[in-house]
Amino acid sequence: MKTIEDLDVAGKRVFVRADLNVPLDGSTITDDGRIRAVAPTIAKLVERGAKVVVASHLGRPKGEPDPQYSLAPAAVRLGEILGKDVAFATDTVGESAGAAVAALADGGVVLLENLRFNAGETSKDDAERAAFAEQLAALADLYVGDGFGAVHRKHASVFDLPALLPHAAGDLIATEVGVLKKLTDEVARPYVVVLGGAKVSDKLGVIDNLLKKADRILIGGGMAYTFLAAKGHEVGISLLQKDQIPTVLEYLAEAEKRGVEFVLPVDVLVSAEFPDLKTKAPANPTVVASDAIPADQEGLDIGPATRELYAAKLADAGTVFWNGPMGVFEHPDYANGTKAVAQALLDSDAFTVVGGGDSAAAVRILGFDENAFGHISTGGGASLEYLEGKTLPGLAALEG
Ligand code: ADP
Ligand code: MG
Repeated sequence: MKTIEDLDVAGKRVFVRADLNVPLDGSTITDDGRIRAVAPTIAKLVERGAKVVVASHLGRPKGEPDPQYSLAPAAVRLGEILGKDVAFATDTVGESAGAAVAALADGGVVLLENLRFNAGETSKDDAERAAFAEQLAALADLYVGDGFGAVHRKHASVFDLPALLPHAAGDLIATEVGVLKKLTDEVARPYVVVLGGAKVSDKLGVIDNLLKKADRILIGGGMAYTFLAAKGHEVGISLLQKDQIPTVLEYLAEAEKRGVEFVLPVDVLVSAEFPDLKTKAPANPTVVASDAIPADQEGLDIGPATRELYAAKLADAGTVFWNGPMGVFEHPDYANGTKAVAQALLDSDAFTVVGGGDSAAAVRILGFDENAFGHISTGGGASLEYLEGKTLPGLAALEG
């Protein structure tokens, strides 16, 4: 894979596919980690006299403009981080973008509006994606892929566009891939994997591959309830993917066969209601054993005994990969499980990798020093699919 050092960028229009998909509260960015992560690549290009055209997706708009997913706040924040003006185009390949790119001086930066305001970006139809990629290509001379969080997507700006322009990987992607390689080659043992979060089916796939590599797998967050249900326990109104139960049972059997320790919560915090994340009104959860969840309640965090258990299971780790919060950390009453795991990672001498947009945000929002972790990845799905051993379209496109 070429790096930006291999490109002659001075005076050239360089398209940087970034991942500025930051969490927003209205138009306020609640965690700017992804913007800070790609800023060094942009700063380097600026320094070398490139005209930098930055593009990203934000959220999941439906292929047309939707103000709640505007990247305008990201342009402001990127400007603050770079310490220079960042122009903002109110469209992606339209008049505003064309004019803003044409007006760029050497060393100037423009951020285009959300790529996903265009149906061609995420289209499953190759021709539709190619047509959008052609429009994007008209805005630039060179392509730098640095949106690690999107490399598992076969999207126009990630997969089709690099084929149309001389291209290289940005520094963020180079770093991310370097760390993930470390997790797939020689790992220091015990290798402990902690999985949680909400996207259960997205995350189950990785277990298949991790069963061949990890020594211990700890399960928390929403996915825990599918495992508890598979073991025959009542899970009330907790997140549950019934159709995944057969798969989960296979994993448990495979783990036993391979001698991989599979650890499920022994207790959980439950409530009859999902907490109010806006007012953060006290939720007053109850602690119950994980095999005694009342039928009318849902599990929203791991309980105190599980916190201790997981901390103990992490204490002697040589390597840790953690993806997915242990509970609904956005509410203080359900943040303790996630805090306990983060603290256990810091207390261990292991090489620690945190993956996942929300997990990374959680670590920072809960007040941990991100530099104390081995690596905080900007990509959740992307890092999981890499660890699953899949070919990632956005990385494959940069290889050629
Ligand atoms: P990541 O972005 O780190 O990959 P996910 O997007 O999969 O993580 O999941 C993060 C979300 O999971 C958070 O918003 C959190 O509130 C939610 N979550 C965690 N535990 C539960 C639970 N028990 N029930 C419902 N949602 C949960
Ligand atoms: Mg997420």
